[in-house]
Amino acid sequence: MNEGHDDEDDPAERKMRFLFQLRSRGVTDPRVLAAMERIDRGLFVRGQFADRAYEDTPLPIPCGQTISQPSVVGLMTQSLNPGPRDTVLEIGTGSGYQAAVLSGLCRRVYTVDRHRRLVTEAEAIFRHLGLHNITAQVADGSRGLHDQAPFDRILVTAAAEDPPGPLLAQLKIGGIMVVPVGQSDAVQTLIRVTRTETGYDYDELRQVRFVPLVEGLGPT
Ligand code: SAH
Repeated sequence: MNEGHDDEDDPAERKMRFLFQLRSRGVTDPRVLAAMERIDRGLFVRGQFADRAYEDTPLPIPCGQTISQPSVVGLMTQSLNPGPRDTVLEIGTGSGYQAAVLSGLCRRVYTVDRHRRLVTEAEAIFRHLGLHNITAQVADGSRGLHDQAPFDRILVTAAAEDPPGPLLAQLKIGGIMVVPVGQSDAVQTLIRVTRTETGYDYDELRQVRFVPLVEGLGPT
């Protein structure tokens, strides 16, 4: 280590450690790892928690919400398995980090949040990064995004008691939705729903912990 130069602050070292943590927690899809390597999580965390942006931990963001743990972002993205021609709907823009990761893996991302402030701040980062295939809007995501439906993939990043009916209806046949399901404050189960010709198949993936999906728009 050079004098006055701490490895902790070296961006290349930091990135290597970040990717190593992802792999060691089961994020193995090379496309997902490459997409996550391209997006600097440090841009999405501000204020007193900014220096923890490269740790594998969820962190607070404005409006009482959280940016998800990077390994959970990776595992959810891997389970969603978006293709390069896919249109993806994300419910819960939050910081915008998950949408930015998806942006490198599919044709178009629609992302909605019930808090205007979060949408506005995420849009500014998308512009700064030149991520022009993301459309962010203020909406109650429990109703989906009727005008742009149906979707190849839907990713819900807030916990619902059940997979919301409008979202199931807005999934294409062959489409996949990944959604944390369970009582709001407890541990939830991450579910993968695949729409078939005749109905829906459900797979339980793992235990997770997300902020709740709340109906209606937020105060700000
Ligand atoms: N994906 C985000 C983290 C999401 S945290 C990221 O990468 O940072 C969950 C988000 O879901 C919060 O921002 C919360 O405001 C939002 N949310 C909760 N209920 C919602 C609803 N009904 N419609 C839209 N967004 C909702």
